[in-house]
Amino acid sequence: MPKRMMSRPTVEPFVITYEDEQPGPLSDLTIEFTPTPRLAYKVMRPVDRDRRGVLWARVDPGPGDGRPIFDAMNSERQRECMYYMLCQVCAEPASRTQDGYLFLDWRMPQDPPTWPEGSLTNMPPLCVGCARVAVEQCPHAEKFVQLRVKLPRLWGASGTHYRLTNEGWRSDSSIPWLKYGDERLNAVLATHLVRELCKVTVVDLP
Ligand SMILES: [Zn+2]
Repeated sequence: MPKRMMSRPTVEPFVITYEDEQPGPLSDLTIEFTPTPRLAYKVMRPVDRDRRGVLWARVDPGPGDGRPIFDAMNSERQRECMYYMLCQVCAEPASRTQDGYLFLDWRMPQDPPTWPEGSLTNMPPLCVGCARVAVEQCPHAEKFVQLRVKLPRLWGASGTHYRLTNEGWRSDSSIPWLKYGDERLNAVLATHLVRELCKVTVVDLP
């Protein structure tokens, strides 16, 4: 058996995306004036905008027979896990102790010098059992640090910036993660909810 097959994860985390899941059509988008111009859908559903007014990407679920893409997250499931603090793998409530919620994180170049305190993440928390499996099976596991986070603050969103031109919609997915209140979010279709990790303790896996 090829090595790649052997190292294939046995668990399909809840947050990952599948090949047959497609972004909603651009033809659904419009601009509304509130009076500030902001991105909207022509026909809005209550779930399309979060409490802070940010518009969320829609996902066409497809026929349900696509192969998993382990290194990409489905924006609807990522948002659900991150908002409700559900385990990113099994979608049950994430582990929480007196030291806080369980996260796996790793240091990135843009992280503050206080990392992991005050760092930003788009990776939802985990339950203890799934954190163990993730550490055993994830190809990036050697980078993982396990954290307990007492105050994982809702911080903002990442996504794609849209601009309507004479030639149609122009998109820019290189826009940085934006904090709630940043006016650039008016033109962003959000794909990931971002939390700021505060009151963090580095821990061993229980
Ligand atoms: Zn779990």
